[in-house]
Amino acid sequence: MDVYGIIGNPVEHSLSPPLHQAAFDHLGIDARFVTFEADPDRIEEAFRGAEALGIDGLTVTLPFKHDAYEFVDPEESVERVGAVNTIDFTDDGPIGYNTDMTGTLRAFEHHDVELDGTNAVVVGAGGAARALAFGFEEAGADVAVTNRTESKAHDLAEDVPGATGHGLDELPDLMAEADVVANATSVGLESDESVAPADAWHGDCVAFDAVYKPLETRFLGDAAAAGAQTIDGAWMLLFQGVDAFETWTGEDAPVDVMNEALRSHL
Ligand code: NAP
Repeated sequence: MDVYGIIGNPVEHSLSPPLHQAAFDHLGIDARFVTFEADPDRIEEAFRGAEALGIDGLTVTLPFKHDAYEFVDPEESVERVGAVNTIDFTDDGPIGYNTDMTGTLRAFEHHDVELDGTNAVVVGAGGAARALAFGFEEAGADVAVTNRTESKAHDLAEDVPGATGHGLDELPDLMAEADVVANATSVGLESDESVAPADAWHGDCVAFDAVYKPLETRFLGDAAAAGAQTIDGAWMLLFQGVDAFETWTGEDAPVDVMNEALRSHL
């Protein structure tokens, strides 16, 4: 039996186990997907232990995405992002991927949204924002990063080729020119707030929210009311898992089965 897992702290509420187990079961792959709540002071030992035990692959979540980057041989695009959320333990050693970044791009593709040549606004400058900003840039968008703590927006924008950094006060002006507006802050998480002013939305853009609890956030509701296309945070969660699954197994992931498993747990 193959063993895969998610490593983080905390991990007890992770949706990765049902997401991946549904795919393994559907394809008849003899594998189990388990959770590992690691001690932050012993994370390097935990990664080495997983490798020594012959664990086949790991999803990495907070707060270990940077530790994972230090442990693996990063796949090329990951070198720029500096964070790893997927480890594939291969015969040549652990390889690191960032499927938060590649998975988000697949979520946009799934919704027939072309990013090349667009103006994309990323709200936030933490881990999710980093994955989105690098992903959008790689897909050919012009990226503007806006954040409550403006200095962090400038720091992130400096790392992403061609990106600009802004304070949150500039968000309405940025939205007026935007084709894509992505919330990568925790505003709206289990609350009815939005980081974006309702009257700044227009119908000629796509709104993406990384927040997936609730699925129908105020951010997306305001965007939809203005006529914008919306993509909820479960699509990012789904496709980061789809990309990880395909990297580990070399099989096409059963996307519909995984989507159903995920949404039934939300
Ligand atoms: P993080 O690194 O802690 O970053 C949090 C961001 O939110 C920072 O930019 C912070 O701004 C901003 N923020 C927090 N409270 C705010 C407020 N009241 N007003 C304005 N900005 C505020 O977190 P993260 O890991 O990037 O996660 C961000 C969100 O994305 C979370 O809700 C998480 O659940 C979600 N997420 C979803 C997926 C998915 O697969 N769908 C994946 C990863 C994360 P400051 O810098 O000013 O503090």
